[in-house]
Amino acid sequence: MPLPPRRRSVPVRVGHVTVGGTAPIVVQSMTNTDTADVEATVRQVRELALAGSEVVRITVNEKEAAAAVPRIRERLDALGVNVPLVGDFHFNGHRLLTEEPACAEALAKLRINPGNVGRGSKRDPQFANMIEIANRYAKPVRIGVNWGSLDQDLLTRLMDENSKREQPWDAMDVVRESIVVSALESAARAEELGMPHDRIVISAKVSGVQDLISIYRNLAKRCDYPLHLGLTEAGMGSKGIVASTAAMAVLLQEGIGDTIRVSLTPEPGGDRTNEVIVAQEILQTMGFRAFTPMVVACPGCGRTTSTYFQELAQDIQSHIRHRMPEWKKHYAGVEEMTVAVMGCVVNGPGESKHANIGISLPGTGERPVAPVYEDGEKTVTLKGDRIAEEFQELVERYVARRYARKGAPSAAPASTPAATAADT
Ligand code: SF4
Repeated sequence: MPLPPRRRSVPVRVGHVTVGGTAPIVVQSMTNTDTADVEATVRQVRELALAGSEVVRITVNEKEAAAAVPRIRERLDALGVNVPLVGDFHFNGHRLLTEEPACAEALAKLRINPGNVGRGSKRDPQFANMIEIANRYAKPVRIGVNWGSLDQDLLTRLMDENSKREQPWDAMDVVRESIVVSALESAARAEELGMPHDRIVISAKVSGVQDLISIYRNLAKRCDYPLHLGLTEAGMGSKGIVASTAAMAVLLQEGIGDTIRVSLTPEPGGDRTNEVIVAQEILQTMGFRAFTPMVVACPGCGRTTSTYFQELAQDIQSHIRHRMPEWKKHYAGVEEMTVAVMGCVVNGPGESKHANIGISLPGTGERPVAPVYEDGEKTVTLKGDRIAEEFQELVERYVARRYARKGAPSAAPASTPAATAADT
């Protein structure tokens, strides 16, 4: 299927990454460490980058955090992690950036929340101060509006204007309009202050799916800045994933969105990289980008009465994620591979034939053999106690054969033996 056309936006450089224009939709994430803790923050940024986050945002909320940013950048560079860092500023960003200029220099982008930049008469000069610093170091900014911290003066102004309409809008329509206007007026003000048009990215995050869709459709019509998509406070577990996907999928399908973040609340002690994997999976399942081979697995049913089939699907998924950093270095296009793991003969052979490589396991009561298909042809039938290991080895061999770059050495583990296949 051809992909839907993307909305035209101006490309913005964030470090070595381009956001907007014809660039691929960028995956980003945010740390939840104390930025002043250099070790913990470096560790988490590295994990997020290895998981596939192409831009990572860090909180810069106090002097110690601002002072730590250049050291974090240095440590990451020494580790070979060149992911651009974005500083997230609220309330005191103007002061922190003035007192710690090396912080501004080390960051690839500054996130400014127009609702949290200062109250009353302080707002405009503090906003101007941040834009002036960004200009001094030639850094782009994200004007990041969030309805939890919407500029209350602006909201009051638009509510007043609304009350004078012959037919006043619903109050929630005025709130949504205020979010859009806050982003657009702040971006216009930044340009008046000398910020180039192609150094501004916009976001306008809310926590309701329908609100997000409506606001971004509106923003997309009214500007050509690249748009950072994300449902804020999406929540935990499946709810957070479903809500983020529901909102972003609609917008992405309409060509709206140049970079995405999935804001999941991790379980206590949970893995922060989940939000990166979910963002990648949204883009990959919709066909916008390919990051890692996809495992196609049937849901299982009364024909799969043991857990063997689920375990094999899970093992293959983990094996692929584990091997991807190495595969990526040696095998061009491997991220587009599909691997089918199917539970029985009903749909197993058919689905396996559509995949690059697929296995159809024996369902309950079926002959205990597992035919394997490669590029639509049955190549081998596995049986015995080592079906899982042997299939994993076949996947390795398929990758090495199908995706090897010309002249590159194979990255297949030296110990990979030939599959001890049964009959073919
Ligand atoms: S392929 Fe077989 S095991 Fe899987 S859902 Fe279909 S009928 Fe059930």
